[in-house]
Amino acid sequence: MPLVGGKYRQELAQTAQALSQRGKGLLAADESTGTIGKRFDSIKVENNESNRRDYRELLFTTKGWGQYCSGVILYDETLHQKAADGTPFTELLKKEGVISGIKLDKGVVPIPGTEGETSTQGLDGLAQRCADYYSKGVRFAKWRAVLNINKSSPSQLGITENAHTLARYAAICQENGLVPIVEPEVLMDGEHSLEDCIEATQSVLAGVVKALHDHHIFLEGCVLKPNMVTPGQGHASYKTTSAQEVARATVTVLQRTIPPAIPGIFFLSGGQSEEEASRNLNAINALEAAKPWALSFSYGRALQKSALSAWGGKKENLQAGQDAFAQRAKANSEAQLGKYAVSL
Ligand code: 13P
Repeated sequence: MPLVGGKYRQELAQTAQALSQRGKGLLAADESTGTIGKRFDSIKVENNESNRRDYRELLFTTKGWGQYCSGVILYDETLHQKAADGTPFTELLKKEGVISGIKLDKGVVPIPGTEGETSTQGLDGLAQRCADYYSKGVRFAKWRAVLNINKSSPSQLGITENAHTLARYAAICQENGLVPIVEPEVLMDGEHSLEDCIEATQSVLAGVVKALHDHHIFLEGCVLKPNMVTPGQGHASYKTTSAQEVARATVTVLQRTIPPAIPGIFFLSGGQSEEEASRNLNAINALEAAKPWALSFSYGRALQKSALSAWGGKKENLQAGQDAFAQRAKANSEAQLGKYAVSL
């Protein structure tokens, strides 16, 4: 039987290793036009192409950020944009030593007959899109599946559907030379307990890994982007659960489900504050436990929130925005090493 990834297998493993370097994580800057609009609303900046470009240029020209980030996830529009001086963003990223990734999913639609569960769109024509992105220098990709916790979710149908779709996406990526980030996000929204999140995340990850095997995914050339295991943000214990408790629950669930062949696990921030996201990642890496993977960050909001507000859409605030981004990137790099000195 032909192996998934074929001629790209060695390169896929090298890319996955390069992404998973110690002290580095990923910048998720792949907000769709609608999502970046929500971020811009919070700082009263108009959501137009030139503001989106200016903002991404601020991030990508931050001095030395490649020390902290091995890769960046882009949205299609951003991949094709240029800096004000005419340099393509992809060139800027290459110079900084940051690998370009791309968001491939096309958002979620409801699964009929379920309690608000969803399926992710974007499989049609995916092989062609992957080949096209590879030819433009992209070397990894992201696909986000969303699961929620309530009385009847995640259901077996929700888990099976999302695991299958993630595995189909991962196989198509590998066939075309892109390392897939497999992202099954169990949302923090809701009033569930830490134990509920342990159970749900464990079932979801077990389902995803089973599907990756069923679809013959080359695990050494694939990385995972899960949620951390926490109580729901609406549960009374959310504020009192320590970073050490989150770390213990998260690592326990990963130990039970994720094979050591997968080189890197990059957490999403999912609505945690910048400080919480750094503190929790630090506790995960400081925890004494068997952890055969690189455990790092692939944060969107938790790397960008203070940068966005320091910038506020004004040219004169460029440096302040870059300083804020560099500060969070450095904090999370230290947290990847378990050496982050918490600033409370
Ligand atoms: P957050 O870190 O803001 O959750 O975003 C990460 C991401 O890329 C979700 O798909």
